[in-house]
Amino acid sequence: MIKIVVVFILSIEPNSMHEMSLCEGVLDVIEDSAKAQNFKKVSQIFLEIGNLSGVEIEAMKFCFAAVMRDSIADKAKLTIIKKEGLAWCMKCAKKVKVKQKFDKCPDCGSYQLQIVSGDEMKIKELEVE
Ligand SMILES: [Zn+2]
Repeated sequence: MIKIVVVFILSIEPNSMHEMSLCEGVLDVIEDSAKAQNFKKVSQIFLEIGNLSGVEIEAMKFCFAAVMRDSIADKAKLTIIKKEGLAWCMKCAKKVKVKQKFDKCPDCGSYQLQIVSGDEMKIKELEVE
């Protein structure tokens, strides 16, 4: 049994998508890369989920096993890495941490924030056989 780790990054637009569709999107990507990189089984999946993506982590875990069943990633372990939300505050002219999408700036209270990161979901890494 040979184990290799395939590292690639993919952004999925989680906006207004249900967790079940997100899991199906993840499986699509895995199947495509299995063809491209010639692996037959996935044993672990590392998913990076931003705090501001609106993705429900518990719901993801729940849907994941059901979607992956009988696929190339059947019984694969799901590891979720949470990513902090960062926004650019126009008033402070710096990056600030935010917990929710429409939060105000924790320093000055302004709502003129532009999300910099943490609003996406990525497949960071796959452990394959
Ligand atoms: Zn500010």
